[in-house]
Amino acid sequence: VPALEISGLRKAYGETVALTDVDLTVDHGEFVTVVGPSGCGKSTLLRVLTGLEESFEGCAEVSGTDVREGGSDDVGMVFQEPRLLPWATVRENVAVGLEGADDRRVDELVSQVGLDGFEDARPGELSGGMAQRVALARGLAYEPELLLLDEPFSALDALTKYEQQDFLLEVRKRLEPTIVLVTHDVEEAAYLADRVVVLDAQPGSVERVIDVDVPRP
Ligand code: ADP
Ligand code: ADP
Repeated sequence: VPALEISGLRKAYGETVALTDVDLTVDHGEFVTVVGPSGCGKSTLLRVLTGLEESFEGCAEVSGTDVREGGSDDVGMVFQEPRLLPWATVRENVAVGLEGADDRRVDELVSQVGLDGFEDARPGELSGGMAQRVALARGLAYEPELLLLDEPFSALDALTKYEQQDFLLEVRKRLEPTIVLVTHDVEEAAYLADRVVVLDAQPGSVERVIDVDVPRP
């Protein structure tokens, strides 16, 4: 069973067709990026995969389970903004929703995103890149079947962005999660992923899947 299987996915908001005829299969441990212009349905796709979007046509399964029936810990999510609790520490932010998590496990996650020594810091004391790594640790906390990232680097300055992209590749090498990352940045998409999926803006058109040969640093 693949980590993610989408077939014939169609989602409309009234007259507005956000997604149509989307087919996509992602294997365990694969890193896929989804690119496309603004309004092509990237955010809608991620909302469907998180199970937040209950009404759609077609099929979307995470490890064989319909996204509408899966538990919330099947999918981890990282947003464009880190969305951290400002009054909570790094450790507390990572542990949000992790019921009964022991400190050792949380500290391990903090360490995995390179924030040793910052366990008790608050978001206001962190740089943008560090805050986004806290969000990454939180997204990985449940050991989700699928990690979704929605434009995770778009709000960062260029240098920090490159740093964080390489950091994500390191984390990926170590933990081998299955990743679907959505971005409007074609270069970023090609740099990060094993496979780039282009979502067309025109309703009714079929998505094109292109394979890219990615040079590694
Ligand atoms: P992207 O993330 O690629 O910019 P979106 O998934 O946000 O695209 O939007 C896809 C299309 O669906 C757009 O035409 C958008 O206006 C429309 N859309 C998205 N969410 C809603 C909603 N909640 N209600 C109505 N239309 C929506
Ligand atoms: P992004 O480009 O980052 O996907 P959007 O501005 O498209 O962000 O969407 C932000 C929010 O507004 C989303 O929750 C989306 O569902 C909602 N939205 C987008 N387009 C519409 C629309 N035409 N009508 C109602 N809600 C919309």
